[in-house]
Amino acid sequence: MELKNRYVLAIDQGTTSSRAILFNHQGETVTLAQKTFQQYFPKPGWVEHDPNEIWYTQSSVITEAMAKADLTDEHIACIGIANQRETTIVWDRETGFPVYNAIVWQDRRTADYCEDLKAKGYASMIREKTGLVIDAYFSATKIRWILDHVKGVRERAERGELCFGTVDSWLVWKLTRGTKHITDITNASRTMLFNIHTQEWDQELLDLFQIPSSMMPEVKSCSEVYCETSTPIFKNGIPVSGMAGDQQAALFGQLCTDIGMIKTTYGTGCFMVLNTGDKPVLSQNNLLTTVAWKVGDKVTYALEGSVFVGGAVIQWLRDELGLIQSAAITEQLALSVPDNGGVYFVPALTGLGAPYWDQYARGAIIGITRGTSAAHLTRAALEGICYQVYDVLKAMESDIHTQPKEIRVDGGAIANNFLMQFQADISRCPVVRPHVLETTALGAAYLAGLAVGYWKDIEELREQWSLDRVFNAEMKQEEADVLLADWHKAVGRSLKWKAEN
Ligand code: ADP
Repeated sequence: MELKNRYVLAIDQGTTSSRAILFNHQGETVTLAQKTFQQYFPKPGWVEHDPNEIWYTQSSVITEAMAKADLTDEHIACIGIANQRETTIVWDRETGFPVYNAIVWQDRRTADYCEDLKAKGYASMIREKTGLVIDAYFSATKIRWILDHVKGVRERAERGELCFGTVDSWLVWKLTRGTKHITDITNASRTMLFNIHTQEWDQELLDLFQIPSSMMPEVKSCSEVYCETSTPIFKNGIPVSGMAGDQQAALFGQLCTDIGMIKTTYGTGCFMVLNTGDKPVLSQNNLLTTVAWKVGDKVTYALEGSVFVGGAVIQWLRDELGLIQSAAITEQLALSVPDNGGVYFVPALTGLGAPYWDQYARGAIIGITRGTSAAHLTRAALEGICYQVYDVLKAMESDIHTQPKEIRVDGGAIANNFLMQFQADISRCPVVRPHVLETTALGAAYLAGLAVGYWKDIEELREQWSLDRVFNAEMKQEEADVLLADWHKAVGRSLKWKAEN
């Protein structure tokens, strides 16, 4: 069958669900299958997944997506993987059994250890090598926790019997029935063990965290044929040829391939990523420096700001507070009042990420009066998402000394027109919503397709990007300034809340 009549299978392994999406040569979604899986919260602040459940849900959605479109192996040109980043899995090289559950990126169990590392003065060395701030978010301290707390594991690791991997590594291991132990450079750059300048695992960091180098996967680019599948899901071997962490994949899927282009994903959290070209920019404003992708020999870098609670605050209004029936209703509710009624909602439910990095901040709703209604509270929650994204945008502008031309957006919450308009209003920057909403999966598909010649080059892909709607600033600057000043006052009240009690 001619290559361009086939399909690219994108695996999008996320924090709450596993998805499989088939794209055609025009970059259009042909079918999608999705399964959620169990979240384990063994203690406050701990978040785990079962690695086998990740694989079972992932493999079953692959089969389902192919069956839905009535496709067989012969129709699949290649496979691309995008995955939740930083989540840490350690498994036995012989048996393939995980030694412990996956410790998820949101897990805070190593927060005190991170504070200790900061107090000992490791922050600047780690930042220079890895581009990251010391935080429990990244994989290094999670690996160390497993080595130190699961019986017998350190000895087995030192004997070379164990493998570490982020979810991309784990999926490739399973797709190849335990013959390939690899990761890609974007996932590697989120472990806090990878030197983004030399593009190698850093021995000094491995020593600091007491992690045997034999555990580490081989680091590959984002677009090359890594292997062929040998899992019984497929009758024949299919090339696996694209891999990137979910945010980097979304940047690529949005075709932010030129220096200075920005995308923001509005999902559970919000993630803003800026393409900084072939030079890593070390942030003066607490943003992360990370690898955007490596295609061929060329490494592209990015600046990233993560907001921990974005759309999750809407889930909280719905599930914990019972204030709303559905996420979709928030748009109508917010527009039913002329303004926020003086209410500000700082959604620091799990601390604050960039640019504050305060793990002791807690959520605050302030400015409530007798006249405050559910609509005001809902509006304040939506505005709170936008203010956080604004703070990250300002940090980026200050690091690169320019203003971006536009922000491309994706993720579940961008369906909300109020949210998009308010973002444009306070940011004074056009917010651009594309047609294809599955940009993370599309990015993985693009990376995979480029490697096997399914698509010729990035130019060809650029023609596929199409616009749904642009939101331009309509609010007066003075009005935005007043809102922002009050927001920052509210943030001040939420910072270090837990540490002070
Ligand atoms: P993830 O990939 O992080 O699981 P998604 O990209 O699927 O997240 O987006 C889901 C998030 O978006 C949820 O947190 C949900 O509360 C929020 N969301 C979905 N629709 C809306 C909406 N219309 N308005 C505001 N938030 C929304």
